[in-house]
Amino acid sequence: MSPYPQDPFAWTGAALEDRRDAGLLRTLRPRPADSPLLDLAGNDYLGLSRHPEVTGAAAEAARRWGAGSGGSRLVTGSTELHAELEAELAAFCGFEAALVFSSGYAANLAAVTALSGHDGLIVSDAGNHASLIDGCRLSRARTAVAAHADPEAVRKELAARTGEGPALAVTDSVFSVDGDAAPLAALAAACRATGAGLLIDDAHGLGVLGDGGRGAPHAAGLAGDRGTVVTVTLSKALGSQGGAVLGPAPVIAHLLNTARTFIFDTGLAPAAVGGALAALRLLRREPERPARVRAVATGLYERLTAAGLEAARPDAAVVSVRAPSPEAAVGWAADCRASGVVAGCFRPPSVPDGISRLRLTARADLTEDQLTKAAGTVIATAPAARP
Ligand code: PMP
Repeated sequence: MSPYPQDPFAWTGAALEDRRDAGLLRTLRPRPADSPLLDLAGNDYLGLSRHPEVTGAAAEAARRWGAGSGGSRLVTGSTELHAELEAELAAFCGFEAALVFSSGYAANLAAVTALSGHDGLIVSDAGNHASLIDGCRLSRARTAVAAHADPEAVRKELAARTGEGPALAVTDSVFSVDGDAAPLAALAAACRATGAGLLIDDAHGLGVLGDGGRGAPHAAGLAGDRGTVVTVTLSKALGSQGGAVLGPAPVIAHLLNTARTFIFDTGLAPAAVGGALAALRLLRREPERPARVRAVATGLYERLTAAGLEAARPDAAVVSVRAPSPEAAVGWAADCRASGVVAGCFRPPSVPDGISRLRLTARADLTEDQLTKAAGTVIATAPAARP
């Protein structure tokens, strides 16, 4: 083969250099199976991803149904296991029906695009997750970005709507960067008053909030609400992989018929379905796990703020701690890691408000000793504590 006279992708190298110069280069850090590090950056909130019942069910599902689902859901990729998970997930969270997707990301793209239209209006919270934002873009609906956690701003945008298309308000239930909760009941009231639908991404609420971990919409009295649709991920509290949309049966049937990330995507792998189903059954049997993860988050917050660090009281499992500058945040996270604790680091441009922070996540299986070590490490390495 003749060499290219000119490398058509040379510009990617230049773009990478720019990123490196700005201190923003992202790289992968493969985790060994037996890492000695204490993980406060992942989303395995209930500590179920390595629970023997969950891993055993995942392995058994792969043996019984195959390593992959073998096709898209509407062709050959739907197993009886998928149907079981959909029925149990819907019943647990209090909704009529559910549809499983290959990720929470795909579930969000599906829900936003299928429940809006090019002639419609979407009102989206300024702090929403990237997958909801991408859903808005793909929908080709007019999207109004409302001030963060401001139901009155959402009501005004919805009330001022012109045109005949569907209206939809979209929000995370628990915002992924700061871990603060959305005012769901007030948002639902704003939607009801203006005839709009409400789409709630409960990725960080399922298994953490609500009675026995039934999620933030359940806690807000919205379970079974005809105007509410909920998306969840199977990859956080349920320790597996995949996503789902929950809501009234006709809405779910509409998604099955129209959502491109459902129709043109291979069905979720049986191991992931089996793992999520086992985790859901464990959660039903051990309803104290959600209370424990919330207590760990509060314990972490209390230790950090008692030491003078600036953190917001967590509404769920995420504890966000302010750093004085982007460089300080990066150095802080690196020092935590060197001391055996993995913390998330968020800084501009990944955060819309320009505030850098460490993002710590609580886990139900963290022991008191581990909690003390984690908090002690974050405090000891804090930028303000340096000479
Ligand atoms: N929504 C939110 C709020 C999330 O934090 C995430 C995961 N980071 C997703 C959706 C996407 O879920 P998944 O990882 O299952 O694709």
